[in-house]
Amino acid sequence: MSIPRSHPQVRMMEVTHTVPAFECTYCDALTELADGHVESSGRLCCRDCHYSSSFGGWRDGTHLWCPRCRTAKPQGAFDHRPFVHYPVCRDCETAAAARAARRPPTVACAHCSGEFTPARSDARYCSTRCRVAAHRAHRAS
Ligand SMILES: [Zn+2]
Ligand SMILES: [Zn+2]
Ligand SMILES: [Zn+2]
Repeated sequence: MSIPRSHPQVRMMEVTHTVPAFECTYCDALTELADGHVESSGRLCCRDCHYSSSFGGWRDGTHLWCPRCRTAKPQGAFDHRPFVHYPVCRDCETAAAARAARRPPTVACAHCSGEFTPARSDARYCSTRCRVAAHRAHRAS
């Protein structure tokens, strides 16, 4: 619940806040990041420089900056994700998925339950010690 401004204790306080900004590639105007556009070259420019009234559209198309590969790519190179503010391009997503798939899966040791990366697909114990201990326990029972 927010407090209504009409509360008798309320007065106005001045706050200064900084916002991320950049200098436009063309007109050097200091522009808030929120009003900026990415050119196909990867450079940032202000809305006025990016929008061309002569043909009524974005002079250089609409591009997004991929933070992973640090290049500007057309919006079509990004998968639309409604809740992702700074998406990475599809190439980077694919590369990340491939990296994750290459990582060998871990399994739980049959003796100590500790997770380990099996050197062989049929490995059941994390170490020789666990293997020996398990065999010893098996023989004792
Ligand atoms: Zn400009
Ligand atoms: Zn990328
Ligand atoms: Zn173990």
